[in-house]
Amino acid sequence: MNKNLRKPIWAASTLAKGEGGATGDWRSHRPVLNKEKCTVVLRNKPVCHLCWLYCPEIVISRTIPPEIDLLYCKGCGICAKECPVDAISMELEEKD
Ligand code: SF4
Ligand code: SF4
Repeated sequence: MNKNLRKPIWAASTLAKGEGGATGDWRSHRPVLNKEKCTVVLRNKPVCHLCWLYCPEIVISRTIPPEIDLLYCKGCGICAKECPVDAISMELEEKD
């Protein structure tokens, strides 16, 4: 049998930050992190990072504190929705 035929078919693609362009332009609301509520900041340990896990644009860092790259954040609000302690709020974007 041809060796190549036994290779698994891999349908998933791997996203990289910024692949969709500067999606920050799409935003009407921006995520704002309240470090006084964020569990990883309060415990100084990587015990949560659900915002990093769920962000579809991969623009939240898995750091303490988590940081959000607003150049690519499209303002979808998923991070705020998924944060178990409401440490991220979506605030109206002020544009020039
Ligand atoms: S999901 Fe919320 S509590 Fe968890 S790391 Fe992100 S901001 Fe902090
Ligand atoms: S609003 Fe949150 S989840 Fe959505 S792109 Fe921005 S950082 Fe990611």
